[in-house]
Amino acid sequence: MTTLVENFPGFPEGIQGPELIENMRKQASRFGAEYRMGHLVKADLGMRPFELTIGKDVIQTHTLIIASGASARWLGLPNEQALIGHGVSSCATCDGFFFSGKEIVVIGGGDSAMEEATFLTRFATKVTLIHRREQFRASKIMLDRARANPKVAFLTDTVVDDVLDVSKKEVTALRLRNLKTGESWDFPASAMFLGIGHIPNAKMFAGQLETDADGYLVTQKNVFTKVPGVFACGDVQDRRYRQAITASGSGCMAALEVEKYLEQEGH
Ligand code: NAP
Repeated sequence: MTTLVENFPGFPEGIQGPELIENMRKQASRFGAEYRMGHLVKADLGMRPFELTIGKDVIQTHTLIIASGASARWLGLPNEQALIGHGVSSCATCDGFFFSGKEIVVIGGGDSAMEEATFLTRFATKVTLIHRREQFRASKIMLDRARANPKVAFLTDTVVDDVLDVSKKEVTALRLRNLKTGESWDFPASAMFLGIGHIPNAKMFAGQLETDADGYLVTQKNVFTKVPGVFACGDVQDRRYRQAITASGSGCMAALEVEKYLEQEGH
């Protein structure tokens, strides 16, 4: 869902996220990888071979690499869920276009928020980035780019207490509060985009694989889970680096370990 990826080695001018993925897919296909799309409904890692229910199909497998990534985090505001699709969004690339000529708000202080804010200026007349602190977690290059954009304004030390207006089925304003002064006010906006980080997609393995307090899969020696034959890589197990290149690297480690495991097990 990302736009321009500037930090993947080998692309001096950067590359669009979807294009990078399509390239990887084609490259793996050339070596015989087969693709099937579907939702994992159930995973039984207690039996051998493991059993995975994908939609209505059951797949048996001797090894499994979990690379399910992480999903956008929401603020948990009273009216937030009701307004998703009506001005509340976690995906600027998906929904930005709908707010052409409007004033919108981005929440967060990391690279995602900077990326979203900069991207959304293609459509919006003004983007206000709201962050709960004065310091930004974002990398200097992303922060500088957002700061240099005349359409991006910054509001720091500010939190969102709610988003309005459910009765109109659209976003009309955000109820904001300054954490230093305690002042509260309604800030008019047509959309609120979240860029406040992610939650690892590991719920479907609950009770079968170890997770940390925030739900990330716990791995040893980079990619090993406690269940022999089950490996995890990328954002579902990495709370520290979370980059396309580090995720790709750990995916490679997992693939090499699968090969070794299958060889040892005599498959
Ligand atoms: P992040 O670095 O974890 O930043 C999340 C931001 O949201 C932080 O500023 C955090 O505030 C804020 N936040 C979290 N929960 C909040 C809440 N409940 N209310 C208000 N604010 C909240 O996440 P990210 O920006 O998604 O980045 C994740 C990783 O992906 C990073 O390593 C980043 O470099 C990478 N990334 C790279 C690119 C790129 O290079 N093109 C683009 C996007 C992401 P605090 O700072 O106060 O905690």
